[in-house]
Amino acid sequence: MLVILHPDISEDSVEYQETWNYLNNLQDIKLKTHIVQGQQQNLTEIYLIGNTQPLDKEQIEALAAVERVIRISEEYRILGRHKDTQRVSGFTYNGIRFGQDNLNIFAGLCAVDNRKHVEMTLRALQDNKQQCTRMGAYKPRTNPYSFQGHGKECLPYVFELAGKFGVKVIAMEITHEGHIEEIDACLEAAGQPTGVMLQVGTRNTQNFELLKAIGRQNTYPVLLKRGFGITLNESLNAAEYLASEGNDNVIFCLRGMKSEFGSPHRNLVDFVHVPVIKRLTRMPVCIDPSHSVGTRDSAPDGIMDLMHATAQGVIAGANMVLVDFHPYPSKALVDGPQALLLEELPVFLEDVNIAHEAYQKRYQLYQA
Ligand code: PEP
Ligand code: MN
Repeated sequence: MLVILHPDISEDSVEYQETWNYLNNLQDIKLKTHIVQGQQQNLTEIYLIGNTQPLDKEQIEALAAVERVIRISEEYRILGRHKDTQRVSGFTYNGIRFGQDNLNIFAGLCAVDNRKHVEMTLRALQDNKQQCTRMGAYKPRTNPYSFQGHGKECLPYVFELAGKFGVKVIAMEITHEGHIEEIDACLEAAGQPTGVMLQVGTRNTQNFELLKAIGRQNTYPVLLKRGFGITLNESLNAAEYLASEGNDNVIFCLRGMKSEFGSPHRNLVDFVHVPVIKRLTRMPVCIDPSHSVGTRDSAPDGIMDLMHATAQGVIAGANMVLVDFHPYPSKALVDGPQALLLEELPVFLEDVNIAHEAYQKRYQLYQA
């Protein structure tokens, strides 16, 4: 059971103390407090853990500090929606809002290869009014002899250039908890010119120790990729690991499922699940057309499969797009064949815009 207190209530107030004492004296019930930091106000949520079946919802709702009470299922306790459409979703990080009701584009390099390519990419983003990007420094590779990413060596120039070109948030995969400290140290040394969203890759979706370590920090929000060979429920539970450790600033990313049936795409595109994730949880939903489609092939209409897939995700209400670009894909050290060209950025953004406007019109159509 979840007890939501009135906004901005102080722990020192009589109402809070009385409410807490009442809940704390309930038999066989443990309390866990969770603070939701909103743009305008803070919300205190108290989770009642144990046998909550016999508890009287109305009686708890009558307590002075209580705004409302929601019966929640065991699944996705913190991130779940629990049939409550009023529960706040989303968060603001470094001035950028992430929610189930807006859209952010993260175009950038799959992997950082050199300073020049980072600079060219960031300049193109700034020219197109973009404030977010993706830049891979730690790359999990199938083949141990493949390029593994420049790691912390590239962070100083990536952060410096991001600051120079006005980028506020960089999605960056980490594969080990030690990478958080490396990012901390480099951002600190550079004077915090930008922000980082920690990405958990599909190969690490169920790396529970990594999830717990990332969940224990609140500095950086998290982009969790869906596991490519596990059930949706297992991937959503992985997201809940982050929240259960204290960090619920989590975005869930669809990136396709491993299946020969997806062929000729790299993965079977799963963007039809965008509304499903929004129904089951309060997480903003990201789509990654690059890693799901994996090619630059086009249909006879002249539109790349990658663009078609992006439009399908956005028209279904996706909240974030993570997409690979490269100034010279043939020179890219990772995933060149799926990268879009910097010259294609304006048309890509316009295509996304068309799909987003169509989604907004569709949304209006169903408001009574
Ligand atoms: C990536 O986004 O660079 C990546 C490796 O993606 P995934 O974990 O989905 O394969
Ligand atoms: Mn990649």
